[in-house]
Amino acid sequence: MIKLSESVKRVQASATMAISAKAKAMKRAGEDVVALAAGEPDFDTPAHIVAAGKGALDEGFTRYTPASGMPELREAWVAQIGRKRGVSYEANQLIVTAGGKQAVFNIIYALAGPGEEVIVVAPYWVSYPEQVKAVGATPVIVDTRAEDDFKINPAALRSAITDRTRLLILNSPSNPTGSVYSRAELEALAEVLVEKQVPVLSDEVYDELVYGEPFTSIASLGREAYDLTIIVAAASKTYAMTGWRIGCAVGPADVIAAAGRLQSHSTSGANTAAQKATIAAVTGDQRTVEMMRQEFDRRRTYMLGRLNAMPDVFCPEPLGAFYTFPKVSAYYGRSYDGPGINGSMDFCNALLEHAKLAVVPGGAFGNDEHVRLSYATSMAQIEEAMNRLSWFLDHLE
Ligand code: PMP
Repeated sequence: MIKLSESVKRVQASATMAISAKAKAMKRAGEDVVALAAGEPDFDTPAHIVAAGKGALDEGFTRYTPASGMPELREAWVAQIGRKRGVSYEANQLIVTAGGKQAVFNIIYALAGPGEEVIVVAPYWVSYPEQVKAVGATPVIVDTRAEDDFKINPAALRSAITDRTRLLILNSPSNPTGSVYSRAELEALAEVLVEKQVPVLSDEVYDELVYGEPFTSIASLGREAYDLTIIVAAASKTYAMTGWRIGCAVGPADVIAAAGRLQSHSTSGANTAAQKATIAAVTGDQRTVEMMRQEFDRRRTYMLGRLNAMPDVFCPEPLGAFYTFPKVSAYYGRSYDGPGINGSMDFCNALLEHAKLAVVPGGAFGNDEHVRLSYATSMAQIEEAMNRLSWFLDHLE
């Protein structure tokens, strides 16, 4: 048998995939499944962006671009990202990647290795700990509580930092919790990071999807914070472009250059026509972004109301992204016509089997008491999903 590398042996398959695969198989078999498991907008890519992508192919944009991205895109995107945050960046401070996911991976790879640590706040986006393990480094998981809106505080951050710490990963707005850090909260964290000189990967792929206070980036909190921050952004959620696979990392030029060297030997850069489409996205009409935000907000309000009206369900208000993360652990220990529910995976399996509703177990994100529901689907589907969840909870014994 061929031996796998020690690092890759530690990487686990996504636990969310099992539920999705089961839901898809049920749908294929003709069952009426409602899925709130998706991590992508249900909207189509706006027409002017699609036209730019098609036009690029017709105009012959079918060859390699520079590995770190088309200069025109780097310039346009870095200007937009800086403008929105009130800071300024040069084009060589941005690398274009195949989605936000690859940007996160490149930065982790550039900054951490065997024997080194990366601090990850739980509940976390599923890929952070696995990517850290893939490069041979160690994820240091810091748990947070629903009562604190799932946010890490300065004291918890300070006590997680060791002399092996290379990076903190912060995600605001958060997948899966929808939490958004306020300016004051980020200032308190930045103080610790600056004192300890720990860089931060600030995953801001949901920056346009906020429903309360305006979005703040930790990069905007002064020169010292700016110098320690690498922002990850993406066309995926903002412009409903998940399948185009375009993201970026923005930060100190030497870190971006290192990520660029790495990328020149891995993918050779992102898809050329998709980069042209992204130029149209970031320089063109932004009205669709606000239209989508408003529609997500309407669905969010409805779903939150329904969830919190269900007995023994507690759902903190998500102020960003497009997920709710209700606590359902009061129902653990009960059962529906079969084995008892012990944890979020059992809960999701039973919900799918008996109510034909697919949601994602919180265990996949490092918190087994909750489940994640996406409201990136139609209002009619959300209404039906809430009816099914309510019926299911009523019938647990
Ligand atoms: N970060 C977070 C927090 C995400 O939720 C996602 C997508 N699920 C990504 C990064 C990556 O997005 P993509 O690679 O599709 O641009």
